[in-house]
Amino acid sequence: MVNARNKKLGEARSVIREIFEYGNARKREIGADKVFDFSIGNPGVPAPGEVNEEIVRLVNTMPSLALHGYTSAAGAPEVREAVARYIRTAFGVPMSAEGVYMTCGAAASLTITLNALCEEGDEFVVITPCFPEYGVFIESAGGKVVTAATGEDFHPDLAALDAAVGAHTKGVILNSPNNPTGAVYSVQELAAIAGLLRRKSAQRGAPVFLIADEPYRELTYGAEVPYPMAFYENTVVCYSFSKSLSLAGERIGYIAASPQCAAAADVFSAVCGAGRALGFVCAPALFQRVVATCLGKSGDVEEYRANRDLLLHTLQRCGFVCIPPEGAFYLFVRSPEPDAAAFCERAKKYELLLVPSDGFGVKGYVRISYCVERAVIERAAPAFEALAKEYGL
Ligand code: PLP
Repeated sequence: MVNARNKKLGEARSVIREIFEYGNARKREIGADKVFDFSIGNPGVPAPGEVNEEIVRLVNTMPSLALHGYTSAAGAPEVREAVARYIRTAFGVPMSAEGVYMTCGAAASLTITLNALCEEGDEFVVITPCFPEYGVFIESAGGKVVTAATGEDFHPDLAALDAAVGAHTKGVILNSPNNPTGAVYSVQELAAIAGLLRRKSAQRGAPVFLIADEPYRELTYGAEVPYPMAFYENTVVCYSFSKSLSLAGERIGYIAASPQCAAAADVFSAVCGAGRALGFVCAPALFQRVVATCLGKSGDVEEYRANRDLLLHTLQRCGFVCIPPEGAFYLFVRSPEPDAAAFCERAKKYELLLVPSDGFGVKGYVRISYCVERAVIERAAPAFEALAKEYGL
């Protein structure tokens, strides 16, 4: 009666959302200040002042019909031009408005790109641990998911990537700064991946695309975030303002397809076609214009840094093991028992809501999202201590 695959997707909510909803119910039951919800990546610092100023300015100066009406399917021309100009000047790569498609956030950027590229029998490689929705997006586009595990340091393992990319690989999704590990890939790593993809493209006789998922680009603690397009010609950047500008609920982002892609015009036509087929045309008009004046900006990263340092210190003092993240706003902590889901269940006893790593494609870790109010981390310290004691840490 209904599409079975979609019904299943709708019934099996993502683990993250499941825990988030549990947390909301628990907060209603025992009080919000008694629940330590580290489940979801909802930005915890306000949007930078420029965002509100620009909203007010636009509302006060632009005629209402022009401001709130449809834009072109791919986005308002002046916004696409502003994004292209920003990419050219900030990263020193050729980019034109003809390669920019405005979207409803990274989820739409990825879905559109995957649908644009995917043909029968195509595979897409993801580097695990990774954002759980990649699997949903790839399979819904008709592709097959192939995984390549990182090394213990959560940085790409070139040998694993080499083994994963084969004759059927249409693309590799790269996410740096990374959710869930906070790893930021270096210039050397980007150069090595570009070399590998070039070699594989030659072997395959067709390009292997690099799909750079970049919602955390601006959220780093000093690490340089090299621009993938500067290293590899067949790159499609899937950007979102959800995290950098704390606009997750407004649904705004863009796709930037490199003009140096093989058959670049066809790639962009397919992006437009996929956007059309999926109903992702004309991204929110007000927010297209808002972000055009806030490109490259972010909320106060120092707030996230302070959260990271406090949580890291608390956890390490308790005996938990974690690699300090270089970007994004997640800690990926080793579970003290092999079954991360069982560990998360135990944590719930102390009202600590953590996400088991299984959904991210690896076992034995938990993700702790620290884009929360500082007070939550402070209040959670005794709960982490009690939990650690249960494991004799
Ligand atoms: N990609 C990664 C790595 C993410 O962490 C997220 C959201 O958490 C997304 C994509 C989706 O972002 P958006 O809310 O902009 O659709």
